[in-house]
Amino acid sequence: MSQQADLFKKLTAHCKEYGFIYQSSEIYDGLSAVYDYGPNGVELKNNIKEYWWRSMVQMHENITGIDAAIFMHPKTWKASGHVDAFNDPLIDNKDSKKRYRADQLVEGYLDKIEDKINKEVEKAQKRFGDSFDEAMFRQTNERVVKYTTEYEEVSKRLATAMSANDMAGLKNLIDELEIGDPEGGSRNWTEVRQFNLMFNTQLGNIAGEEGKLYLRPETAQGIFVNFLNVQKTTRQKVPFGIAQIGKAFRNEIVARQFIFRMREFEQMEMQFFVKPGTEIEWYNRWKETRMKWHLAIGTPAEKLRFKDHDNLAHYANAAVDIQFEFPFGFKELEGIHSRTDFDLSSHQELSGKKLQYFDPELNENYVPYVVETSIGCDRMFLAMISNNLIEETVPDAQGEDSSRTVLKLHPALAPVKCAVLPLLKNKEELTSKAGKLSIS
Ligand code: ATP
Repeated sequence: MSQQADLFKKLTAHCKEYGFIYQSSEIYDGLSAVYDYGPNGVELKNNIKEYWWRSMVQMHENITGIDAAIFMHPKTWKASGHVDAFNDPLIDNKDSKKRYRADQLVEGYLDKIEDKINKEVEKAQKRFGDSFDEAMFRQTNERVVKYTTEYEEVSKRLATAMSANDMAGLKNLIDELEIGDPEGGSRNWTEVRQFNLMFNTQLGNIAGEEGKLYLRPETAQGIFVNFLNVQKTTRQKVPFGIAQIGKAFRNEIVARQFIFRMREFEQMEMQFFVKPGTEIEWYNRWKETRMKWHLAIGTPAEKLRFKDHDNLAHYANAAVDIQFEFPFGFKELEGIHSRTDFDLSSHQELSGKKLQYFDPELNENYVPYVVETSIGCDRMFLAMISNNLIEETVPDAQGEDSSRTVLKLHPALAPVKCAVLPLLKNKEELTSKAGKLSIS
């Protein structure tokens, strides 16, 4: 087992042993990609939510919160594009019978090229020491240049196939790159097909399609449909934001990375409504603000990076991920998207209700543009545990080196801030005083 895989295994075991996270319905052998938070876990998760809420809502005069319902009118998801386009490309391996996301198989291939480049750079760094010029090395080393060219070509082909919904192109790419099943290596693949990620259920009193309801796949739409309600009741002027923390549900095809990819998870989202034409300026400001938020809680800068989207969603004119270095590599922790006026305009069109803002300075009505910041609470939880669960060596009672596992969380997030512990257990005089102190 690689060092990283070993670390990840230790982390999941620690989460269970210390009451942070349990597999859902464990006595029935669990439900895949669904998890329960235990006594320590719920405290840590609440603290993460509070840290986000305080800094995003309470510390910003022009941002207010809401708590919208999970169920929404089914037309919401037609307008948002989720019914028609919230798909992932699915592929099955005929030998192993395992199911994968086709785009992630290609991304896995790209990750391997990136690893090869990093290894070459590391080797050279060791060889040349202080005189090493990394930028020059990356530009001139034959092997690195070859890998980099391949990386760029494959990324471009992936982005083109994804944005054109070209499932045959994606399958060709997998075949040409000779990508095998990550578990058994077999290249006996089915065709790639689209799979909608929304869970649905049925209203009790209406049969058929009419009564079909979806479990929301994102919290954002609850904000959009309430945009005018909030603007009118708070009398906010553009630019202003609406924030929400809540559950979201996605029928993820592949969910094998603990709480990184769950079928039921929690999002912390903020939609910021701005004057059309100013969205890119605000997008850049939010990028900066959100990165500072991560750094302020003690996440080291080298574990965070921005990654622009190669493949923009149907609603966006700019999008970036804040990636964190999880034990399985750099992956998305948060998304910042310039969503244009897509959502409000679509809801306006389908509902027939005006969703416009009257700008008193311009003396005109317009549909505001939106910049969104969206972070998964569970991914933030995983980032905090993986960054802060460390092995350290300390002298034991005999002065010998002994290793121990420590979870060094930032005080704002720690489930337990301090403890009052009587030195002697059975001394009533001490235990009663300690008891009084701990609840005062
Ligand atoms: P990914 O590419 O990893 O599937 P996404 O781009 O679909 O994520 P968004 O729709 O931008 O994710 O959702 C915003 C945030 O919600 C993500 O940055 C992530 O932190 C969180 N999130 C999304 N899907 C899941 C999931 N299945 N489990 C846990 N958190 C998730």
